Amino acid sequence: MSSPSMPERGGPGLPQALRLVTEIPGPRSRALAARRSAAVARGVGATMPVYAYAAGGGILVDVDGNALIDFGSGIAVTGVGNAADEVVAAVREQVGRFTHTCFMVTPYEGYVAVCEALNRLTPGDHEKRSALFNSGAEAVENAVKIARSATGRDAVVVFEHAYHGRTNLTLAMTAKAMPYKAGFGPFAPEIHRMPLAYPYRWPTGPEHAGEQAATRVIEIIRDEIGAGAVAALVIEPIQGEGGFIVPGHGFLPRLAEFCAAEGILFVADEVQTGFARTGAMFACEHEGIVPDLIATAKGIAGGMPLSAVTGRAEIMDAPQVGGLGGTYGGNPVACAAALAAIELVESADLAGRARRIGELALPRLRALAARHDAVGDVRGRGAMLAVELVRGGGDDTPDPALTSAVAAACHRRGLIVLTAGTWNNVLRLLPPLVMPDELLLAGLDILSGAFAECAR
Ligand SMILES: *Cc1c(COP(=O)(O)O)cnc(C)c1O
Repeated sequence: MSSPSMPERGGPGLPQALRLVTEIPGPRSRALAARRSAAVARGVGATMPVYAYAAGGGILVDVDGNALIDFGSGIAVTGVGNAADEVVAAVREQVGRFTHTCFMVTPYEGYVAVCEALNRLTPGDHEKRSALFNSGAEAVENAVKIARSATGRDAVVVFEHAYHGRTNLTLAMTAKAMPYKAGFGPFAPEIHRMPLAYPYRWPTGPEHAGEQAATRVIEIIRDEIGAGAVAALVIEPIQGEGGFIVPGHGFLPRLAEFCAAEGILFVADEVQTGFARTGAMFACEHEGIVPDLIATAKGIAGGMPLSAVTGRAEIMDAPQVGGLGGTYGGNPVACAAALAAIELVESADLAGRARRIGELALPRLRALAARHDAVGDVRGRGAMLAVELVRGGGDDTPDPALTSAVAAACHRRGLIVLTAGTWNNVLRLLPPLVMPDELLLAGLDILSGAFAECAR
């Protein structure tokens, strides 16, 4: 193995090709992993223990000089590419002027400009307002605060397989016990979990999932909570950590219609789906949904921590002056990054790129399903794609062991790929939207090789 020459910087100038110069993880990553286990709390996990050195486009270079293909984007964050030139320039310019004042103490233009951009880009042409925070969980939590303040109601409706974050309120809203919730309760009250229209696992067939699940949800809300007690229905238009579940046809529109009739606020958690990931600026657009409130984060700022709640002006303005905020919310450096990233999403037509990624990848994933009995379902939209792995041969029991074996085989071959799902049996693809076609296809070849190695 040759000794690697390390790149001087990341960004789109990095050679866009796989290059393995050590085993994965290499010796430098293994040394860092040893330091990590002596210094970092065990509860913070790691999907793939290679330590990052530089990244850009669709490539991540590790500390051993391996250039890996990135199908993770840091969990749907670096859609515009890691260290994108425009984002780096905007951050440099801002960080050299001031790093922080606290928007609640002495405000600055960048925060206002990000809110203007969100008000313009989110679905619906009604008057809107936005507020900025740091993380997706904080955005979802604030959306609930705002909805309760605006409606004077307490109850919040959420769904099976939902993921909304790791704070106490958002853990109550998140579905999965292990590893997210176990040992961390008690959780916040007045959170009501509903069935989700999960087409692949709907007992009467995928085509009935949307309508039948919506009917059941509406019955439960009316009969068991009381529609008049519900402040908000919070839903991911395509579920993220839950396994990239695209709700059955008609599910979201019927729920949105029911919410509007009952004065329940429809809150879209677009933390993972937003900013062109699914082939539209926001996933709600695929079904013509105009949410009352929308929570965004991940893809908003090219890798800098920032999140937002955007919604109808009269709802957003319900909380009292001083009722919303936080020391770092809408940090000026993160806002500068967001303005550059949003400009890139629009000017480079990254929604179009996301659709192209879907068009290239879906046929290959379907071919995988045709070859391997263990691929029970192929789903997703745009550049948010997944395969669900099952025992096969007519048995749709989830197969988490095979899923982690395939993921590990991908990792050894130099492909960063993530798993998901309540039963840990979903492989999910979240390539940066700027990933070149050839690199995407090379990554899909690795996935296919990993299946050939591990699957029936
Ligand atoms: C990641 C995620 C969150 C939480 O965001 P953090 O920034 O990790 O707090 C909330 N909702 C969805 C749909 C997510 O994917």
